[in-house]
Parts: sequence; C-alpha cells; structure tokens
Amino acid sequence: MLEKDCREATNPVCGASKVDKTLRDEVSVAHSCRTRSLAVLRSRDFYLFYILVSLFGMCTLIYYFGELIDFTGWEALHQGFFYGVHDIQRLFFLAPIIYASYIYRVKGAVIVTVAAFIAFLPRALTLSPFPDPVLRIVLFIVIEGSLGVLTGMVRNESERRSQLEALTRSERDRFLGMLERMEEGVIIAGPDYRIRFTNTSMVREFGEGIGSHCYQYLHNFDSPCDQICQLPKVIDGATERWEYSFLDGRTYEIIASPFVDSDGVVCQLATFRNITQRKQVELELIELNKLKSELLSNVSHELRSPLTSIKGIISGFLQKDIEWDDETREMLLTGISEETDRLASLVTNLLNMSKLEAGVWKPAKERCHVSDTINDTLEQQKWLHQKHTFETDLEPDLPEIYADYNQIKQVLINLLENAVAYSEEGTRIVVRARAVDGEVEVSLSDQGVGIPPEDRERIFDKFYRGNQTRQRPGGTGLGLAICQALVLAHGGRIWAESEVGHGSTFYFRLPAAQPSN
Ligand code: ADP
Repeated sequence: MLEKDCREATNPVCGASKVDKTLRDEVSVAHSCRTRSLAVLRSRDFYLFYILVSLFGMCTLIYYFGELIDFTGWEALHQGFFYGVHDIQRLFFLAPIIYASYIYRVKGAVIVTVAAFIAFLPRALTLSPFPDPVLRIVLFIVIEGSLGVLTGMVRNESERRSQLEALTRSERDRFLGMLERMEEGVIIAGPDYRIRFTNTSMVREFGEGIGSHCYQYLHNFDSPCDQICQLPKVIDGATERWEYSFLDGRTYEIIASPFVDSDGVVCQLATFRNITQRKQVELELIELNKLKSELLSNVSHELRSPLTSIKGIISGFLQKDIEWDDETREMLLTGISEETDRLASLVTNLLNMSKLEAGVWKPAKERCHVSDTINDTLEQQKWLHQKHTFETDLEPDLPEIYADYNQIKQVLINLLENAVAYSEEGTRIVVRARAVDGEVEVSLSDQGVGIPPEDRERIFDKFYRGNQTRQRPGGTGLGLAICQALVLAHGGRIWAESEVGHGSTFYFRLPAAQPSN
C-alpha cells in the first residue's frame, strides 16, 4: 500500500490526475451545495419564514423609529406618533404573532411572542417616560400571546378537521371503489329515499338511478311502499335480509344494513344478488321431487298389479280340484304373458333412465338403415298388440343413418307402446319414414285421444304424465323422456303434433350418415 502511494506520488502523470480528480470533486460538492441552497431559498417554507422575519423587523423598526430619528437627526421625520403612542406600536406586533401562529401554530406564536417581549424590553427599561413600563409590556405580551396561541389552536383544530374530512372522503372513495367491483348490485339510499350511489352491476340490472328515489327507481312507485320498504328500520340500525321477485320474474336476495356516509348521514346500503336461476332450479327440484314421489307410489302400484294378477292366475292353476278347459287355460296363460310384458317394459324403462342419468348408456353407433329397425320393431310389436292395425309408409332408398340400432329400437318401442296405450282397439297406427334436408325423419301417427296443448311442452320431461286415460294400464312418465335423451344423443330432435280427440303424431329426425362415418 505504502509502495503504491509512493509510486503514485512520484509519478507526475498519476499525481496530476489525482489533483484533477480532487478539483472535480470539490467543484461538484460546491455545485450541489449551491443547488441545495437555491432550492431552500426558493422553497415555499423559506418565503413564509422570510415574510415573518420582515414583518417582525418592520414592527421593531416602527417601534424604535423615534429613537432612530433622534440618533440620525432626521428632523423632517420628527412626528409625535413615533414618540408617544407606544401602545399602538406594540399592537402592531400582533401581525407577526398572528402570522406565526397561522403558519407555525402554537409553537410559532409562543416564539414570536417571546421575541416581541425581548424587543419591547430595551425601550421599556431605559427609554419609557410612562410609569410601570414593564407591567405594561407584560400586559401587552400576555394579551397578544394569548391571541396568537388561540389563533394557533383554532388553526390546528380546523386543519385537523379538514384532514379528518379528507380522510373520511378518501375512505369513502376506497369503500365505494370496493363496492363498485362487487358482483352483486349495490345501492346506497339516504333517509330521504334518494339514491346516492349505485355500482356498475346495479346499473347493468336496473339502469342509472343516482339522484332519483329508490321506490321510483326499483318499483316505479310514486311513494315509498310500506310493505316492501325496510329503509326506516335499517336507518334505525337494523340489518334486514329478504327475497323479492319483481314483476318481470327476476328474483333478488337483498341484504340491507346501515351505512354512515361521508357527510355523517345514516343511509341504507343494500346489496342485490340475482337469484332468479337458483329459484328456478329450486322450484324445478320441488316439482321433480313431487313427481318422483308420485312416481314411487305409481311404480309400486304398477309393479304390484301385474304381480297380483300373475300370482292369482298361478294360484288358480295350483288348485288340484279345478279342471281348466283349453280355452280358459290359454286365456289365463295369455294374461300371465301380458302382465309379464308389462312388468318387463316398466323395469326396462326404469333401468334405461337410470343408465342414461348415470351416463353409462352411450350409443354404440354403426351405419344402419332406419327401415330395418322399423320393420324389426313392428314385427315384434304387431304380435304383442294384435288389436291395433299397424301400417308403414317408408320412402324407398332412404339414406343410411349412423346410430345405435338398439337405442333407436327402444325409441320406436316407447312411441309405439304409447300409441297403443292412448288409442282405442281397432284403430290404425302408421309409421312413416322419409328423407328431409340431409336427415331421416320418422313419424308415428295414432288415432287416439290426442295431447292437450298445455301438455305438449312437458310430455318429454322426466316423470311427467298427462291426464289422458290410458287404454291399457301402466305408465311411469319416463317413456318419452327416454326417447328424447336417446334421440338427442344421436344429434337429432323429437317433437309431437296432436289434435285432441283425433290422434297424435310423434316425429323424430336423425342425421343421415356421412361418408366419414
Ligand atoms: P307414460 O308412461 O305416462 O305414458 P310417457 O313419457 O310415455 O309416460 O308419456 C308422457 C305423457 O305423454 C303421457 O302421460 C301422456 O299424457 C302423453 N302421451 C304420450 N304419448 C301419447 C299419445 N300417443 N297420445 C296421447 N298422449 C300421449
């Protein structure tokens, strides 16, 4: 290290650069000092202080002006005011004291008052011609100082208040900002029912409303509605929660609580959560539960009645003392067969529905002809329902469909069973198929009781059953729901047309198979 310093000292080039560096440092330090000093001199604080010092200086100058005139001999300026009215001159000091209290509050007032006292002293002690000069200046100082301190305190208080107001305002803005971002609608209404705030969600749901009355904004009423309005209770400090359905069908969950606005007025802050969908789902669930319990009693009845018939017939056969002729025996056996079919159909529908709901009954699609499926199904159904006439009208050269043969067969079976169940014996059931707009349309027409218009929308709902009388016992309200689920799973659609008393036609369309299938 020592060696390095020596080398640098003996090296003229190195020494010069070191001197340069030191010089540069000094210049930059001087520069930064100057900049800082200028900044201080130009600062607002310095100006305020400068004004205070000037005021104080001027007052002191006026106070001692008489002595200055005597000292300098400016006879022209020799005026009684500068010699006699010291009390008024002392009053001038109120200006710097009040000014200091305004700028620097109580502390400033005290310091300037002490300074004024010191300024008063020489004249009072040495020059004053009046009696008790110290007592007089103390009196002045106490009055002026008290006025200064009072001004400082008032100024402190007003500043504290304005700071508090600013804080409250900024807190309100922050709070309203939070409310603004809320997903629920938010509305703040004053005790006069006037709306002070609505957030974006509220505006989206009900439109702009600030300034209008809440009863007008929300309900289009001319005056507050006592039955709905909770505002008076909320203003009194209660938190209220209720649900309200508007005339247009929207339902809201409303929670209202008191809110003190920045002006100190107690208002009502209410949040509006749109629960229309939830309510609908709840209603649907209630309806579904009702239907399910109806189904349970229905299903148990449907299961029991064929079983009772079968059991009755078998018990009859088991009685050894009864001789059955061939005709009666055949009739009874046909009865067992029909009741067994009823049971099988019921159980199949229940199983199919639960498989569909569990998502395990996926269509195993392959290219097939819908005419084959129709013919196979009819072959089987004709045999089961011999008292109805079945006809087909199938367009030749129908395009192939890409479908699950068994599932489409199930759709046809359900529709055919309904056609049989809701039409009298001896009537005609016609199955048609045609190609329309790249789809294959299948229709089943019966000459039965028909479906009332109010039922047509709902017959495809699960467990929904109309009031029409079935010609045959049975029915669970699942047949058409299964048909719809299966047709939808094939990318098709299903619907019904009907005339009460003249029969019904059920249609379903399936997309024709594509070359890629
Ligand atoms: P269900 O087991 O009651 O027949 P579905 O789901 O098969 O149940 O049918 C639902 C309802 O649709 C039936 O209760 C009935 O009111 C009506 N319906 C179905 N098919 C016909 C039809 N061919 N003629 C008249 N009404 C029908």
